[in-house]
Amino acid sequence: MIIKKLCLLGIGLIGGSWALALRQAKACQHIVAWSRTQKTLEQALALNVIDSYTETAIDAVKDADVVVLATPLGAMLPILTTIQAHLSPHTILTDVGSAKLPVIDAVKTAFGEIPDNFVPAHPIAGSEKSGITAAFPELYQNRRIILTPLAHTKTDAIKIIEQLWQVVGAKLVSMTAEHHDQVLAATSHLPHVLAYGLVDLLAKMNDNQEIFKFSAGGFRDFTRIASSDPTMWHDICLANDQAILTLIDNYQTELSQIKQIIQAKDSSALLDLFQRAKTARDKFSEDFK
Ligand code: NAP
Repeated sequence: MIIKKLCLLGIGLIGGSWALALRQAKACQHIVAWSRTQKTLEQALALNVIDSYTETAIDAVKDADVVVLATPLGAMLPILTTIQAHLSPHTILTDVGSAKLPVIDAVKTAFGEIPDNFVPAHPIAGSEKSGITAAFPELYQNRRIILTPLAHTKTDAIKIIEQLWQVVGAKLVSMTAEHHDQVLAATSHLPHVLAYGLVDLLAKMNDNQEIFKFSAGGFRDFTRIASSDPTMWHDICLANDQAILTLIDNYQTELSQIKQIIQAKDSSALLDLFQRAKTARDKFSEDFK
């Protein structure tokens, strides 16, 4: 499969890594990008991530076979509103956003109705690093990509997006956008909230210099994701707020239980809880690979 023209709107870690991998796989004749800043576009060209760039999003989407939204979630609606009258009828639209219902809502708001060639997608791959200089072509190898097509999404459009991910070594999964947002709130969004919260708590302590100086591996493992881009996570938390709020409530209940167990010096309850968690973690650790 060769796509004649693929257009990326936003070209950071996620869009840039896909472009690099697609170029290596020779899956596209031409990759054009538009980004918010000229500097990012110049870097993307210099790093051979793209073939060309344009000054405006409207110019970038002209005659594109596939258009990929790869900006933070909060930037998608204004971009969609800008480009919607300029997409060719044959253009397939997709995205890489970390929550799916908000992107589907944004597409509906911008287009009036959700086009049948819009294929919502979310690569379960990434890192705490961001920007075009963090992009690398192996990012998606053996990683899962979740597609959340709608009932009326064209099969041909889904197939093309699937092929564009398969060609870079990714594995595809399909589910509803509702289910996606619930699952990712638990496995990705809540952990980021907890990591940001823990680091913020410790950073506010008077002796924070010493605390961070003596941080052990566990602290580093748990808080690595608090180095992620704040804007991206701000957007995700506000976009998937209901699912995240429910999980924060559940987590508060869990913490209260642990607190009571420790207060009561209930040795067997504490061991049981840690053992239960370790068993679950060990069982599912194969899935992390
Ligand atoms: P990134 O590296 O920070 O790149 C973001 C891109 O969007 C850059 O081209 C940036 O432009 C542009 N942009 C930022 N704010 C903008 C705005 N207000 N208006 C227009 N353009 C804007 O981000 P990323 O990690 O690639 O994430 C992109 C998307 O992928 C997000 O929706 C995120 O939820 C999703 N995602 C991320 C991960 C992850 O681990 N990072 C994983 C899966 C999915 P400039 O550089 O020119 O400023």
